[in-house]
Amino acid sequence: MELTFRLDPEDEITGKASDDYPVKLATNSCSIGGVPDDAHPDLFALAAWTIVAPWTRKRITFDRAISPELAQAIHDGWGIEAGPVGVESRPAGSTLAISYSGGADSVAAATMYPEAPFLHFRRVDHPRIPNRWTHYRSDVLAELATKTGRELTTVTSDLEFTLAEPRPGYPEHHAVAAGALLLADRLNLGALGFGYELGSRWLGGDRYVGHYTPDNPMWAPHGAWGTLFAVAGVHIVLPVGGVSEAVTMRLALQSDLKDKVRWCLRGTDGPCRTCGKCLYKELIQAAVERRPLNTPLTAQSKPAQKWLEQPPYGGQEMVEYGLARIPGIERTLFAKALDYFEATEESTSWLDHCYPPAIDEIPAQWRDQAAAFITANVGFMTEAEIHRVETWGL
Ligand SMILES: [Zn+2]
Repeated sequence: MELTFRLDPEDEITGKASDDYPVKLATNSCSIGGVPDDAHPDLFALAAWTIVAPWTRKRITFDRAISPELAQAIHDGWGIEAGPVGVESRPAGSTLAISYSGGADSVAAATMYPEAPFLHFRRVDHPRIPNRWTHYRSDVLAELATKTGRELTTVTSDLEFTLAEPRPGYPEHHAVAAGALLLADRLNLGALGFGYELGSRWLGGDRYVGHYTPDNPMWAPHGAWGTLFAVAGVHIVLPVGGVSEAVTMRLALQSDLKDKVRWCLRGTDGPCRTCGKCLYKELIQAAVERRPLNTPLTAQSKPAQKWLEQPPYGGQEMVEYGLARIPGIERTLFAKALDYFEATEESTSWLDHCYPPAIDEIPAQWRDQAAAFITANVGFMTEAEIHRVETWGL
């Protein structure tokens, strides 16, 4: 499937994603492979919207009629006039699939729904934009996904190359689902599960605001994107939205997919151990396994620098969790960060449990399975622990 778009006079090539992160347009076309061409028009429109939303200022005209409900949801969420309007909306399907990246959060989400099929997004080169990130091994991740034993559909796309900055990245986080949306009719999808965890959904982590965000515009079911996906009959579900990365790490490493877990995009036969993401995940894994930090990086290494500056920063709750639990942390590159925190096991124990509203917001037909899994494998937060979430960063 080819997507080509033209800007209107009022549109701009520097825009903002829903989390206010600035993104800059590089080119106006991309393609998505491995998808049928007969999806409901709302699915085409939503897939396109995940790619072009940041640059749209007043209106968007799709190449086919969409439902009035979808147009209304775009208007309500973004203040954008969308059309033409002229078809009935898509009824929701009954299958929940997992948007599977192979990282620990994604594997943990998959573990919660052992029968769920996987949809994997694989980056491929763009015909007109040079790939300066060949060390990001999307082929390795795709290969690992085939070895999970799950029903798997791999979608290929160069849509990330529509961005000049930041690269590589998605215009909106939701663009990773563009191919899944186009497959939704074929797979009878009613929901798509993402591996976003407590920090991303509720604590304003990643490239976001750093405080408690019940109305998170990207991931709350009642937020702009949650509403829009639901109108297209594909609910956004965050199976692990109530648990921290310590819990997703533990669940992933205990699961039967543990040998397929790969959060690093660089290594070919294992994580590279030297990138920023590997360092962050090693901090979490060492804390979960209660062993000394094992990294070749030092306080002088480039990936270490952001953790040595003053907080706050994304993933701060997990830094506190790690500082409180890793034996000998004061003799590692994180020694400086100890100056900023007084984290203890007790003060960070809320990160071992599940925030109940995260399960409550899963649509009814998939909720009980998630709740039973949490009860059996994690446990819910106490009132005091819930309070820690709801006052985070405030
Ligand atoms: Zn790495």
